[in-house]
Amino acid sequence: LYDRDGWIWLDGEWLPWRDAKTHLLTHTLHYGMGCFEGVRAYAGAHGTHLFRVAEHTRRLLDSAHALDIPVAFDGETLIEAQRQCLVRNELRNAYLKPTVFFGAEGLGLRAKGLSVHVMIAAWDLGDYISAEAATLGLRALTSSWARHHVNISLCRAKTNGHYVNSMLALNTAVKAGFDEAIMLDPEGYVAEASAANVFLLRDGVLHTPEVTSCLQGITRDSVIRLARNVLGLEVRERRITRDELYTADEAFVTGTAAEILPLRELDGRHIGARAGAPLPEQPIDLNSVTAQLQCLYRQVTRGELEGRLTDYAAWLTPA
Ligand code: PMP
Repeated sequence: LYDRDGWIWLDGEWLPWRDAKTHLLTHTLHYGMGCFEGVRAYAGAHGTHLFRVAEHTRRLLDSAHALDIPVAFDGETLIEAQRQCLVRNELRNAYLKPTVFFGAEGLGLRAKGLSVHVMIAAWDLGDYISAEAATLGLRALTSSWARHHVNISLCRAKTNGHYVNSMLALNTAVKAGFDEAIMLDPEGYVAEASAANVFLLRDGVLHTPEVTSCLQGITRDSVIRLARNVLGLEVRERRITRDELYTADEAFVTGTAAEILPLRELDGRHIGARAGAPLPEQPIDLNSVTAQLQCLYRQVTRGELEGRLTDYAAWLTPA
């Protein structure tokens, strides 16, 4: 990733990609105290645009505020820098990673006198998830690693340090031969996947965990709005147990990178099938709610806004 042409934004300046380095004593490298975002741009029917960049930028600034890290740039400046990041790097389908981190003036936990930096890097993403993976879905394992508790960390903040917990869960699941981990909160209720939110459908109603231990996902919010306003579904945010996922009619995970991916299997139970049925490696039904939401999400992100989807034009910022 580091050896390529391009430009990275740092504190209002543009650095050539290969020169965008930081000192080994950078505070955030040692303690994980910082925050970041994952934002996407799509080449759509009407040019390239950032998707929900205002919401991502607000979450970045909220994360920093909650962590008590003062950021010298306002949202407008950061949105413009993200736009410029696409233009300067000639990107169309891209992933952007704005990050707030402490400098290298000291390593004390009091974080006294430290500089605060903001960087934005972006790279080509293309179709991150193959069409096959998007229709086959994921095989997941309930993780033995619990998600954070609200009094242990700031669950709404997208903090660098949280991803130790995500990686422990994901990599334990991957080593055991699964694609993804479903993480429970410290009380044992379903929280989220390693870097995506979770939904289930049962009897035509969509359910998703309330925002306590899970991140307040922006894709989660997009899906809730599209489900309610376009598909006319009831959506309930509440505590969910793992057996509800086993016995759901459908389940899926959502995130900026993953978009909407079906959850096909959890702990060896095929979701949406009767007990004992073999695990089919079949694409999901095109009439399923998951497939309908995937289709709507694909349309809004790619700027194909027709009919009721014109309501979502504000989610797109042209590059
Ligand atoms: N949970 C976690 C832990 C994540 O890292 C992400 C990815 N940002 C999500 C959920 C999904 O959030 P979003 O839809 O905003 O990308």
